[in-house]
Amino acid sequence: MDETQIRGIVEQVLKKMMQGEIKLAPGAAQSIEPPAPKPAAAVVRGRGIFETVDQAVKASEEAFRALNSSTLEQRAAIIAAIRKWGKENAREIAERTIRETGMGRIEDKLNKMFSSSERTPGIEDLGIRAWSGDYGLTTEEMAPYGVIAAVTPSTHPVPTLINNAISMIAAGNAVVFAPHPASKNVFKYAIDLLNDAIMKAGGPENLIATVVEPAIEATQELFHHPGTRLLVVTGGPGVVKAAMQVPKKVIAAGPGNPPVVVDETADIRQAASDIIEGGSFDNNILCIGEKEVFVVGSVFDLFMREMTLQGMTLLDPRQIEALTKEAFLSGKGGEPLLNRELVGRNASVLAERIGLKISDDVRLLFGETGPDHPFVMEEQMMPFIPIVRAPDVKRAIDLALAAEGQRYHTALIHSRNIANMHEMARRSNTTIFVKNGSCLAGLGIGGEGTLSFTIATPTGEGVTTARTFTRCRRCTLKRYFHIV
Ligand code: NAD
Repeated sequence: MDETQIRGIVEQVLKKMMQGEIKLAPGAAQSIEPPAPKPAAAVVRGRGIFETVDQAVKASEEAFRALNSSTLEQRAAIIAAIRKWGKENAREIAERTIRETGMGRIEDKLNKMFSSSERTPGIEDLGIRAWSGDYGLTTEEMAPYGVIAAVTPSTHPVPTLINNAISMIAAGNAVVFAPHPASKNVFKYAIDLLNDAIMKAGGPENLIATVVEPAIEATQELFHHPGTRLLVVTGGPGVVKAAMQVPKKVIAAGPGNPPVVVDETADIRQAASDIIEGGSFDNNILCIGEKEVFVVGSVFDLFMREMTLQGMTLLDPRQIEALTKEAFLSGKGGEPLLNRELVGRNASVLAERIGLKISDDVRLLFGETGPDHPFVMEEQMMPFIPIVRAPDVKRAIDLALAAEGQRYHTALIHSRNIANMHEMARRSNTTIFVKNGSCLAGLGIGGEGTLSFTIATPTGEGVTTARTFTRCRRCTLKRYFHIV
């Protein structure tokens, strides 16, 4: 894929996203260039932003009571306001996020803002169940928990805020967020303005809240605060483990390391194109993003050629070795430790570290490695995809499952052999399994189904929606209202 084609695709995505009532910030539609660095205006206080965890939780309890005594119509109006705000502020938030975190690509950040605003289900997701018979009528309705403590990652702070806020408020809850400290300014900026939008739509103040100085200690305090009923964590293994030690209900969206198998029956051109789309999206910081590829030997060379033809940069073994030294530091026990400086950086930045000059428009580096390589086994979140040669599909699936490492997150296959697809789907046992598409299809972006940036893997709720954040309550009426 050349530069013009890539830009053509981006323009198409933007055009699609901007249909309907959507308005972008001035100048948003004209340029997809990364913004020139300028100092971020730090917002340290504002609507929904508190000095202490206790103040934030108490204000949220109040907001919950107000929401709980209002109508479903009111909830729907709040959600419509959040969606509108997300789309109208997409460009501003995307730029601020890149400036603050240094991770990702502007066009993909815009995509995440629009996707989370438009595609997160609202109150229609709640539904009810009812039984009517000789003995009367029983209904089951989905009730809120109260105040939720929600931890968000640095990789998509505001899209996760929008996605969680829509789902959790649709379910009738108030939320205190614990954003990653590396994204706190853009997060607080969004909390302030979103609360304003919620209040203008008739919602209570402080329906979403946070603290001035988010830090691990504050998150721990939030977890243990008697006012928080449910913990929802989206992040890496450390925070998942920390939440699971708290004696409260936890919904945990943990790390992934999604492997891809390409077998001899696959449409190789399409497979390469899908892997590029998913693996390069926002510089591979999505937890569902393609992280390593296992290609059957008979089509290996063809696949590698196709990746080059589509504009990606092939690294030779010496260059891969040099990049590995840059990308992984050595942990206490000599284990590879991710160099956070390179997480989510452009392919050109990675290339520069090994003395290679490439255009900023190149979305992905790739190259052949062995199956035990750190780039294969670690969740690396960088736009370099290791490609492993496998003698046959059985071995490719074995190696893919070893790399997935029982995170039960996401796995993918490109194949036209139903038996191979079935075998990998069953054995991988992942929360999301995609056949013949990019990982984005698994989240309803260019695929069917709902979207969430909180995919509950270790606790098993899957792609979360409003219903996930509810308690089921049954109400029985004896003798009456079986009216037929
Ligand atoms: P991270 O684990 O570094 O941070 C996540 C959050 O946890 C932050 O708010 C951080 O402050 C907090 N935290 C970390 N350790 C903690 C502890 N001991 N106690 C309390 N809070 C703690 O993650 P990140 O780098 O921001 O995000 C990337 C990770 O998140 C990847 O592993 C990715 O796969 C995962 N992720 C998963 C999903 C999903 O839906 N399953 C979605 C997005 C990201």
